[in-house]
Amino acid sequence: MCAQSNKYDESVDPVKTYEKKAQVNYDFYNKVIETKENRTRKLQYEDTIDPHTGNAYPVKAGEVIRFEQRPSLHNGRTQILDVLMITPDLKQWSDHLNNGPIEGLNVKKYSGVWTQSQYMEKIATCVADEFPYELLDNENVSHMFFAAHCCPEWIMMAHGEEANVNSCQENFIHGFNRLPAVQAVEDLTERRKLVQFLADRNDINIFQGNQFKQDEKGITRCFLSPTPQVPDGTGVEFYAEKDCYFVVSNCPYADQALPFPEAEPNPVYISVYDTGIKPYSDNHLGIIHGWEEKVYERILSKDLSPK
Ligand SMILES: [Zn+2]
Repeated sequence: MCAQSNKYDESVDPVKTYEKKAQVNYDFYNKVIETKENRTRKLQYEDTIDPHTGNAYPVKAGEVIRFEQRPSLHNGRTQILDVLMITPDLKQWSDHLNNGPIEGLNVKKYSGVWTQSQYMEKIATCVADEFPYELLDNENVSHMFFAAHCCPEWIMMAHGEEANVNSCQENFIHGFNRLPAVQAVEDLTERRKLVQFLADRNDINIFQGNQFKQDEKGITRCFLSPTPQVPDGTGVEFYAEKDCYFVVSNCPYADQALPFPEAEPNPVYISVYDTGIKPYSDNHLGIIHGWEEKVYERILSKDLSPK
């Protein structure tokens, strides 16, 4: 009997093979980035995301949305944002399950954001990250990661019911309620169910110090750290690969430097630009869609008796 080899082989590692398939087209995104440097992109609109609110910002395919900090206009604190993307028909959204294996848990310039099973298409790409990384504790700390957001349960668990004033979950509920396709659901109970489902999605945290590492028990956790004050005008930008809404929460933890009840969030400044460059694909991975019928054929041939 011959022994099985357990030697690591990169070509067999699922995560490595997925990552390779999703290689970045740097030439294309550098052209998008040049439209800022060359001042050829056109401002479509400006807005703010205000403290203790959620909101939804429409961005068309080929447009860029910019989130910009101006701490010195307020209390000097950088403001953490939580960001989700969703198509106007609510069919595709930024999906944590698909993003992790191909992009990793952090987001950086050129990182893609992918939609969920049945689609797995690119919905956005990060095209600017002006964060001064040298202000962070060490080179392993990032300020963007795809993970969870604060919710009433966590805040009540940590600070008691009286602290239950606002959370990213509430802000996402607010933001999703502003989408026309959500407002088209006339039955209020059904609308709430839909919004709860959408607000339960994991999202991209930006301007929040974070580091994934093992704790003393050998469990990998996300260690959060306060976000330093960044210079006014520090921005993060995403290029929309599809017509979509960026649904955003102004996180009530603000810069996460003070205990939650004392935190005072700041507005963040938003601008949307048309780059004049349309996405080069609406299916970047060449995924063959429509596998559901085949899957159901197989499942229906299996034991489906109730348990
Ligand atoms: Zn939050």
